[in-house]
Amino acid sequence: MPIFEYVCGECGEKFEKLVRAASAPCEVVCPKCGSKKVEKAFSLFGVSGGRSGTASVGGGVSCAPTGG
Ligand SMILES: [Zn+2]
Repeated sequence: MPIFEYVCGECGEKFEKLVRAASAPCEVVCPKCGSKKVEKAFSLFGVSGGRSGTASVGGGVSCAPTGG
């Protein structure tokens, strides 16, 4: 069973939770303060800030209306 890491939005406690499925319901509560305002964190991936590198500029031929 996969173990997901959660971060409490109230006290900031970081804990791991064993879930049965990847899409587990919001039945996760903070073991420290008992708040349900927890967010799923990614331990495997170093999440830090938002960065998106998807830019395609300067292409070749694509749907170019050619006279014919
Ligand atoms: Zn908490």
